[in-house]
Amino acid sequence: MRFHSTRSDFDTDVTGAIMAGLAPDGGLLIPEQLPRLALSSLDGLNTPAELGPVVLAPLFEGSALAGELADICSDALDFPMPVRAVPGEKGLFVLELFHGPTAAFKDVGARFLAACMERILAAEPADPRGPLVILVATSGDTGGAVAAAFHRRAGIRVVVLFPEGQVSQRQQHQLTCWGDNVLSLAVQGSFDACQALVKAAFTDATLAARIRLSSANSINVGRLMPQTLYYAAAALEHFRATGRKPNFIVPTGNLGNALACNWARAMGLPIGEIVFATNANRTIPDYLATGNWQPRPSVNTLASAMDVGDPSNMERLTALYGEFDELRRAVSAYPVGDKEIVAQIKADYAKGGQIWCPHTATAAWTYAHLPPAKRGGDWILVATAHPAKFEATVEPAIGTTIPIPATLQAILDLPSDFQTIPAEFAELEKYIYKIVA
Ligand SMILES: *Cc1c(COP(=O)(O)O)cnc(C)c1O
Repeated sequence: MRFHSTRSDFDTDVTGAIMAGLAPDGGLLIPEQLPRLALSSLDGLNTPAELGPVVLAPLFEGSALAGELADICSDALDFPMPVRAVPGEKGLFVLELFHGPTAAFKDVGARFLAACMERILAAEPADPRGPLVILVATSGDTGGAVAAAFHRRAGIRVVVLFPEGQVSQRQQHQLTCWGDNVLSLAVQGSFDACQALVKAAFTDATLAARIRLSSANSINVGRLMPQTLYYAAAALEHFRATGRKPNFIVPTGNLGNALACNWARAMGLPIGEIVFATNANRTIPDYLATGNWQPRPSVNTLASAMDVGDPSNMERLTALYGEFDELRRAVSAYPVGDKEIVAQIKADYAKGGQIWCPHTATAAWTYAHLPPAKRGGDWILVATAHPAKFEATVEPAIGTTIPIPATLQAILDLPSDFQTIPAEFAELEKYIYKIVA
């Protein structure tokens, strides 16, 4: 299978796409054709780890990783992703994606990407520049998932940059507790300043000659592909039990998670409607309403991991559906404000004891505001993070403390260590040389 750029004729195979992250023309890499799966080929396969080697096989065909796909899936997808009934709601379910090491769905993509990169590097001749350095700027969830996923992977170093004082306490702990091959830098500046430093590193010719750099951000196709698997598993479970296709409501920021749901449906998995729930960053719902694509600066919300004003994966969604009218028939989107997020967390806790994180609450609000005829059967909300990660928002809303899951507690119990640097490229450079030494 070839992967090509959304912007030009550039193409490469799956390992090239994973190592490159972005096409050289700035476009996003997409498979030249999504495989069409026969459902009978999935008989007897239930979990994402079981489905992976079959569902993703066509995408890895002909690549150096083809023979290792089963191993990669069992390495990366080693935590449960259950579908549970929402208490007190008939026909409503929740797909819990927060049972991984950092308690958010980004663990799925980050762990799969890390498992792939480690194997790609092992099969290559050693790079004279030394280990691969993954640079990641984070405003919270991404950096933790990437650091956890790449921790102690052979031949790889990780440098995580986060804005000093601008991530939650628990998020900061997840960014700074790893040690070994992971270095955490608190940058005296904003998230944009962190991103600018990473960009400066990638465009610095001297650095590129001496250090092999890569990124692990959410537009890497190696993070998207495994996300189709939890949709496959959840949809098949529902379809096999009821004979009906489930509909999904997906909390959406940069559109990676929701894109994977669309890919899974296009690959022939039994999925009905796909609804995007955004926060007050309403670029996507406005686009579907008006047909005008108007990216804008992001605004801060309580669902901070979805604070994206220019969702880059729209380029892939457009490539999937072609015409705007086709896209508008395929998906819908609802914006949800902070007041609504808090009200929904309160209401669903009062109703059945269900506790949502602020991101998942946008999906719960969206469900509650669907036309009444649509509610009451075959809907699955996608829970993207554990509420205990966002206790500062959720606990005041529900008036009680949230028990911390064991995996998250294990991380919070580790000592934290990080360096603080001014937002200057020379400072970052110094630490990059140090971590490969
Ligand atoms: C990253 C993230 C999102 C947004 O996912 P996208 O793939 O960027 O749309 C939603 N919820 C949580 C908890 C996240 O960490």
